[in-house]
Amino acid sequence: MIQQARTPGHPAETEAEYEKIGNMKNLDLPLGADLLDEPFETLLAAARRRRDAAHPRLQTYSPKVFIPLTQLCRNLCHYCTFSQPPKAGQAAYLTREEVLAIAREGKAAGCTEALFTLGDKPELRFKAARDELERLGHASTISYLVEMCAAVSQEVGLLPHVNAGVMNREEMLALRGVSVSQGLMLETVSERLCAKGGAHYRSPDKHPAARIETIRMAGELQVPFTSGILIGIGETRAERIEALETLRDLHLAYGHIQEVIVQNFRAKPKTVMAHAPEPDMEDLLWTIAAARMIMPPNVSIQAPPNLSAADFPRLILAGINDWGGVSPVTPDHVNPEAPWPEIERLAAATAAHERILVPRLPAYPAWGLLGLDRWQAPKMAALVRASADASGWGRADCWSPGMTVDPHRTVPRLKIVSPAIEKIIGRAIAREALSEREVVSLLETRDIDMDYVCRSADLLRRETCGDTVAFVVNRNINYTNICNYKCGFCAFSKGDKSEALRGKAYDLDLNEVVRRAREAWERGATEVCLQGGIHPHYTGDTYLSLARSVRDAVPGIHIHAFSPLEVTQGAATLGLSIDAYLKMLKEAGLNTLPGTAAEILDDEVRAVICPDKLSTREWLDVAEASHRAGFRTTATIMFGHVETLEHQARHLIAIRDLQSRTGGFTEFVPLPFVHMEAPMALKGLARRGPTFREVLLMHAVARLVLHGRIANIQTSWVKLGRVGVAACLAAGANDIGGTLMNESISRAAGTRHGQELAPREMKALIASAGRKARQRDTLYGEVSDAVQQRGEDAAALEPIVLTAPVKRKVNTMMQLERL
Ligand code: SF4
Repeated sequence: MIQQARTPGHPAETEAEYEKIGNMKNLDLPLGADLLDEPFETLLAAARRRRDAAHPRLQTYSPKVFIPLTQLCRNLCHYCTFSQPPKAGQAAYLTREEVLAIAREGKAAGCTEALFTLGDKPELRFKAARDELERLGHASTISYLVEMCAAVSQEVGLLPHVNAGVMNREEMLALRGVSVSQGLMLETVSERLCAKGGAHYRSPDKHPAARIETIRMAGELQVPFTSGILIGIGETRAERIEALETLRDLHLAYGHIQEVIVQNFRAKPKTVMAHAPEPDMEDLLWTIAAARMIMPPNVSIQAPPNLSAADFPRLILAGINDWGGVSPVTPDHVNPEAPWPEIERLAAATAAHERILVPRLPAYPAWGLLGLDRWQAPKMAALVRASADASGWGRADCWSPGMTVDPHRTVPRLKIVSPAIEKIIGRAIAREALSEREVVSLLETRDIDMDYVCRSADLLRRETCGDTVAFVVNRNINYTNICNYKCGFCAFSKGDKSEALRGKAYDLDLNEVVRRAREAWERGATEVCLQGGIHPHYTGDTYLSLARSVRDAVPGIHIHAFSPLEVTQGAATLGLSIDAYLKMLKEAGLNTLPGTAAEILDDEVRAVICPDKLSTREWLDVAEASHRAGFRTTATIMFGHVETLEHQARHLIAIRDLQSRTGGFTEFVPLPFVHMEAPMALKGLARRGPTFREVLLMHAVARLVLHGRIANIQTSWVKLGRVGVAACLAAGANDIGGTLMNESISRAAGTRHGQELAPREMKALIASAGRKARQRDTLYGEVSDAVQQRGEDAAALEPIVLTAPVKRKVNTMMQLERL
């Protein structure tokens, strides 16, 4: 699977890498014990600079549901109210049904994380725990926890994060298979606090050495890990620094600590420390800033907002970039007296500091989506893919391509557009060639920056194309769904002898192809689009006869047919060069070619999603040869499956650069990946398509990157529906493609937007977006009133015939090629 660790959250793997991404030696402040002497404001300012360099703009939180599997604990920490002794008549553990009920409530409320928090090994102290575990069929709490994590992940789809205390290697490994991250607060390195009178007296699991060994082992086992310190329990500031340096060294050795929490002690009634003084805000801010300065820059620094009451927004001033888990449904069982601020208040407070609140998964991007092979067990990797956006953060909603878009629009909260984004857009407007990094920056934007990207694209669209939105009346004719290839995203194709897998295989009789083309012409179509699976027995002659038959039967219709893959197959089976075969296709009546089969023009992605298909170079070469032969073609991108934003950027740049040489592309068509029936998504190997934010950005960024080169950006009603298309028309698109008459490929993948959008409906859609409709032909020319009227008056379609496959002559040359 593709992984491309990059900002933010890249675990530094070696000291050298750590140096490269900017360690404390590059800072303008002394470190270690010297931090103690720094003026407070100077320290905070340095921490903010360090945070902003490594974590610009985004402030994350994890929407979680809290599952307190057991509140029995063998330790006796003097500040804790979570730990409860066994009570007669009260169960010691949540039952499976209770666990699943909490998880389902969380899922329904939009949570992605199931946070399992529990006491340490209660069975070692309480007979009640041992007896209940026996009834549950387990010898230990951790064994029961493993079963519950598996149930929550597989039955509910939440991502477990476990705080299971000190454990051995086997226990941690078992949990690694059923959770996406684990956590253990180091709390302190002070042995003093384990002595009589200390906060950790009679708490065997709180001995620093035991905790350090557990955290170290997590690194060795490649477990994405959360740790942190608890301040105000009797430790000194020097001891806090020592604890943070211990965590830093562990991270430098293994790269596994994704976040460090700075938690402030709160005095709770009915505890030994009920009257102990709490650390004040200044002390908390100082410690957060120290953590930011000591930890490698890409480790997230987190402080729980609920432990600072109304003062919580000030925590941002000390350099945090994460608020931790925030639950819309369950209380903080460890601090039940301190409710979480609701998400709305958190977002507003974050925005007041010109930062954008973003939901994340319990596994941060570098340890989650962008680092699956190294950091996640296979089943957990599938869950991460299903829950992540393209950057590895959480998906903001439940939408996927093919579903109906929620018309609700989020309004930007920030006030100031990033100067870096302004600069990139200025370069795009000036028609300068953006770099891959610049394109990625545009694709990553959110909130006001994203709004600015979309508005700029919309302005460029108006300048380039005016206010009309074009569409073409056409018919898709997919002449066969039999295909020799095994593209992981394709729900359309069938094997040669396939029976009932997603419907029957067919191989249309030429008469049926011609009948459909004639009917399309009578219904006002100016174009037929011929594409199909790569039938193993098709030869170049098959494609030629398809084109000739349609041309002879319907001389006036524009034949838009054969992707670079079909052209390649056709040429190879006849032993011809691409140039020679394109010439024959032209003579047979072909007018233009669709730029499909492009998927993502990057071989790293193609090796995963369509390993046997033509390479990036081959696709571009066929497109260039087509342009050289005098054909115009479209260009497409299918995005939102396994690729990263870097791959998307490379694709856009490849199209831009080819267009700069040939000028042969008529339009660029973003095709969001529809996952519902796609084999690779069903196996858990792909994301659930792009988020709607990513869809909007793809259209807008394409407009910016291709400005001055490709005038038309098309949006797909088949994948996005009416609401989605209208939104894309306000983000740089000026074209809504064809009426299609018989769309079948996206429907096979699971879309619910129908197989035809008649001219009248196209016009209504465009009017709903406040724009003027224009029926065009394939090359964006005019269409006569008479032809347009035929489309308006079109009769209902006759039923289609799906001709059963007949035995064709084996195409030995092609088979030899593929061997
Ligand atoms: Fe065949 Fe095209 Fe489907 Fe790939 S995408 S399996 S080449 S029909």
